[in-house]
Amino acid sequence: MTSEYLSCDIIEYGFDAQYDAINLCCRISGNNCNEPFHIIPNYKGEKINWNDFFQKKQEIRNIHQNGEIFKPCNGCLYLRKEAWDNSNYIRTVNINNWIKCNADCIYCNRSSLKKHKEYKILPIFKDIIKHDFLKAGGPITISGGEPSIIREFKPLLELFLKNNLNNIKVLTNAIKYDKTIEKGLKKGNVNILVSTDSGTRETFTKIKRTDKHNQVWKNIKKYAQYAKYSELVKTKFIIIPAINDNKEEILEFIKQNLNSGIKYAEIDIEISWFYTHKQNRTHFDEIYELYQYAVEKAQEVGIFLEAKDRMVLFLQNIENS
Ligand code: SF4
Ligand code: SF4
Repeated sequence: MTSEYLSCDIIEYGFDAQYDAINLCCRISGNNCNEPFHIIPNYKGEKINWNDFFQKKQEIRNIHQNGEIFKPCNGCLYLRKEAWDNSNYIRTVNINNWIKCNADCIYCNRSSLKKHKEYKILPIFKDIIKHDFLKAGGPITISGGEPSIIREFKPLLELFLKNNLNNIKVLTNAIKYDKTIEKGLKKGNVNILVSTDSGTRETFTKIKRTDKHNQVWKNIKKYAQYAKYSELVKTKFIIIPAINDNKEEILEFIKQNLNSGIKYAEIDIEISWFYTHKQNRTHFDEIYELYQYAVEKAQEVGIFLEAKDRMVLFLQNIENS
């Protein structure tokens, strides 16, 4: 039975595995984004009771069916009115439970979690597939730490490919080249996003705290050569004020994309900076000018640069002011 109300794909079909909980959502765009809602708190990889899981999801769905908004979702840009099918299955997946990484980005919390023991995600997905809860369509987002250095990443991705799942998005730093990602790109079922946040070796090393700029762009180029469609390999530039917020760096980023055969890239604003400055609006004009410059320069060389997440909220703020 379908019914039309304000909701989102995550409320309806989401599964968000974090390192310490199964959460409702990982998309940091609601007004209460600093308080993630736990479907299963203190999670360490135990077998999941799916009746309980879907019951908790239904309680949130009920709030929306009654014309209200679940508190953590207030103000979220992903809310939309649609005829949702009111069924219990999983389609929008976020795998973010791993911690290990071969970089140490200045904006990332993973290095502070090193003492935390990672739980295994592969048995959970075998169980989800056994119960026939996982539907194709995605997005299935696999992130970190760095997936390509995690032992269960390869069998997990193979499992998804074997079950003909598509729209599998791997957030990789591309320091290591991965043959299973290559296989998924060739098939057209996998897409990758590499956030270099820089175009020069110096800035890359400052942000990622590892000197792998050349290796990363070499791997991006190789992935792009194998991808079935050019939109399957994207790069990203997260503006980090006082670190990479200058036109020279943006130009170098665009040049690297051009040299690597990349046609699609994303632009965003660093999360913690955005949420600590969004009220006082410091540097808003400079960021807006930089954004416009980046879009214009990318367009000149045939690269589509898309605003994402915080940048979308930022542009809405500018338009409404
Ligand atoms: S915060 Fe947004 S994306 Fe996340 S569940 Fe709520 S409405 Fe959906
Ligand atoms: S590559 Fe990703 S997981 Fe690794 S340190 Fe950077 S942001 Fe964190």
